[in-house]
Amino acid sequence: MAFNIYYYESNVDCKFCKKHFTTYKVRPNRYKVLEEQTDFMPIYEGLNPLFYEVAVCPHCGYAYHKSMTRTYGPFMLLIDELYIKELQKPMNICQERTIDDAIVSYKLAYLVSRASMEEPLLMANFALKIAWLYRLKNGHESEMRYLFAARDFYSKSFASNQEGEERIQFLHAELSLRLGDMAEAKKGFSRLISDRSVSNKYRKLARNRWESYKYDEHTINANESIGEILK
Ligand SMILES: [Zn+2]
Repeated sequence: MAFNIYYYESNVDCKFCKKHFTTYKVRPNRYKVLEEQTDFMPIYEGLNPLFYEVAVCPHCGYAYHKSMTRTYGPFMLLIDELYIKELQKPMNICQERTIDDAIVSYKLAYLVSRASMEEPLLMANFALKIAWLYRLKNGHESEMRYLFAARDFYSKSFASNQEGEERIQFLHAELSLRLGDMAEAKKGFSRLISDRSVSNKYRKLARNRWESYKYDEHTINANESIGEILK
């Protein structure tokens, strides 16, 4: 390709069909994280590198993300049976991607991982990222569907270290809040806030989130009652 100031081409050897292809990645100086939302969704200035995290083979349709582990031997037989054979026609989304292309790329990674029975934590992270992409395009209903799937996978997830476990617990509470399941949210945040063995980072995150939620609720209710009075 001619030099492109926004993207570089990453060389990939497909783990399934072994053929070679190139796929775009965002140049590191083309984006900056401006902030993180309460479920850790990064808000970028410039391009969004999330759009290019999944490499989709244009020859066979296999989708690969660096967090996947079941990418060899017997797992490939499962992927062949449950994913590759079911695909209608591999698509080519190796260059500049729209948000819809990005959603498709993550859904393909999700399907590959489901076929190879990857760990629930990996499935949860994929579902969460699909939900984030829908949030960016204001697809509220689809966002909720994937947040629900993510929460379900997080409830079956384990991490290999304390920080990872606390992140799972926090996200379970946070997604419950976003899904309107107040009983679960309250239970999750209260546990993180009151458990002295939880790190300061997550105790503080949980306290801030739960308190600002209650404050917002209170403000909304107060406004509503003023509205009622002035009617
Ligand atoms: Zn391939």
